[in-house]
Amino acid sequence: MTKKLYIETVGCQMNVLDSELVVASLRKRGYELTDRRPKADVLLFNTCSVREHAEEKVYSALGRLKHIKRQHPQKIIGVIGCMAQNHQQLVFTRAPYVDLVVGPGQLHQIPDLVDRIHDGAGPQMEVSLPRKGYDRAAIERSFESYDPLRNPEMRPSAYQAYVRIQIGCDKFCTYCIVPKVRGPEQGRSPQQIVAEARQLADEGCREITLLGQTVNSYRYTDGGRTTRLSDLLYMLHDVDGLDRWKFVTNFPRDMSDDLLQAVRDLPKCSHYLHVPAQSGSNRMLERMKRGYRVEEYREMMVRIRETIPDATVTSDFIVGFCGETEEDFQLTKDLVAECRFKNSFIFKYSERPGTKGAELYADDVPEEVKKRRNNELLEMQNSISEEDNQLRIGETYQVLVEGPSKSWLKHGEDGAPLQLTGRTNWDHIVVFEGNQRQIGQFLPITIYDANAFTLFGEVVTRHVAPEVYMLTAP
Ligand code: SF4
Repeated sequence: MTKKLYIETVGCQMNVLDSELVVASLRKRGYELTDRRPKADVLLFNTCSVREHAEEKVYSALGRLKHIKRQHPQKIIGVIGCMAQNHQQLVFTRAPYVDLVVGPGQLHQIPDLVDRIHDGAGPQMEVSLPRKGYDRAAIERSFESYDPLRNPEMRPSAYQAYVRIQIGCDKFCTYCIVPKVRGPEQGRSPQQIVAEARQLADEGCREITLLGQTVNSYRYTDGGRTTRLSDLLYMLHDVDGLDRWKFVTNFPRDMSDDLLQAVRDLPKCSHYLHVPAQSGSNRMLERMKRGYRVEEYREMMVRIRETIPDATVTSDFIVGFCGETEEDFQLTKDLVAECRFKNSFIFKYSERPGTKGAELYADDVPEEVKKRRNNELLEMQNSISEEDNQLRIGETYQVLVEGPSKSWLKHGEDGAPLQLTGRTNWDHIVVFEGNQRQIGQFLPITIYDANAFTLFGEVVTRHVAPEVYMLTAP
């Protein structure tokens, strides 16, 4: 009988990609995916450590599996990803029925570890080295980039794929756990990346998203020659079959002119840049150890607007970081008002044990103040997004059709016309009526309505006049 695998993924796009690759590797060992926990022989939780809340949710989910494990001790329960690297042995202490703990730098070992547990070897843990106490080369080696051959069936959409170009991070922002759990920054070889993009294109993929924690810091040096992200974009441009790509997430200080010029000059490159600012206050940026002042962020925005006038830019903000005053918060609001981001992801600060921030500063902004600032900034950003989206009414965009819209999947299947969703070259979500055959195609869509999050449109159809044939007598 085929063995069944259940996997739950939380966190960023990097985790989504990791889960896709882990599932593909276990399928090779005869596993089939199930979305029902009780049916599964192996249950994996691919976890995130960025917020404490996400970690606690995993422990609650594990708690609910305790009785299943008691009744079926042969089932294998695994915690993989960032929380596995962050908590290590603690996972076994808090949930003693867990069989497997694997950090993000060791995911390639999962199939063998699962086999070992099946063979009676008991609980298994594979994690990478800590960031301190070893030489950099040894630490780098212990965080392996996990990029086996791609399996198109494992992707949420056959027409889109993530491609990892970099692992880890060396920025050490004081609030962030990523450098600890994902290790030192390391670029993947451009040859491997291009080969993977070619394979994806041959399988019918039309759009790829290049992933890195600070993707625009990408560097790969071999034989004295360094490849930067802009060089990589030129190399990818020659891959036949690929129509569009984008790259996330950018670090403001590394938004170089050569990169902006490549985005401007390469027609397949999406004019969309995600560049988190985090705060508009220099005092906060300093405490966060972001490595730039707000003046430099503003200067970067000017360079983006000058080089790619139609680019959309999105940002992340943390509100209620340690010591943030009303004046600091006002400076963040000023930046949002001035930059008119397409949208912003806004987070209330929550302390992460193991980060410099937790060590150095008190988490002293009361929860209700964080909540109020979060709502205020969100409201402000949403009204900017809505105003700017409204200006797009009447425009026509090439949209890569991704599939049925979320709301249609939720409510509309009973006879309602199919509603599809896709994205523009500027990363706007577009919803329109269509049919199944259009999924995976680029279609011209004219926008007739918009709110803060979505553009609503209709497919531009060509009106073909009937041809008239004269019947002539032989
Ligand atoms: S750049 Fe800063 S916020 Fe982003 S992953 Fe690195 S340490 Fe975390």
